[in-house]
Amino acid sequence: MDLKQYVTTVENWPKEGISFKDITTIMDNGPAYKYATDEIVAYAKERGAEIIVGPEARGFIIGCPVAYALEIGFAPVRKPGKLPREVISADYGLEYGTDTLTMHKDAIKPGQKVLICDDLLATGGTVEATVRLIEQLGGEVVGAAFIIELVDLNGRDKIKNVDIKTLIQY
Ligand code: AMP
Repeated sequence: MDLKQYVTTVENWPKEGISFKDITTIMDNGPAYKYATDEIVAYAKERGAEIIVGPEARGFIIGCPVAYALEIGFAPVRKPGKLPREVISADYGLEYGTDTLTMHKDAIKPGQKVLICDDLLATGGTVEATVRLIEQLGGEVVGAAFIIELVDLNGRDKIKNVDIKTLIQY
């Protein structure tokens, strides 16, 4: 399936100069959403994933159906103040300033094989901070899967030691 035809590009959103890749037009199409999920499920099997981790909010949309299909767990990565129990945090740089991601302290068991899922790999800041969280909990990141990769932003360079799968490249 040519998944690219289901992505909607919205120019200059949320601000001037950003070419936003909207995946809701993959999700609202049953066969396209299933195809994208199945591709990542196959990759997750190949990598021996034992749990899926996804950053809010679109990482949930991609990661949860993969976890369901494999009958494995899903652990959320969230912005500060959203998870109810004890968390660990990782800061990462944005164009201006920094942002923080958190995970529950008991979300990953030591030695557990983890696959990260998100909608899009841009600069790699989000996934790099997610890798740090997982490794701090003793997990082993066996791969990272994205629907879309913005190749010119070189996000891969931020996580050189992590195997990466992307379904569509721009
Ligand atoms: P980054 O940390 O730079 O790799 O950015 C990744 C996160 O930001 C992803 O979770 C995306 O949801 C979002 N994102 C960044 N750039 C775009 C874009 N051009 N279109 C849609 N989402 C984006």
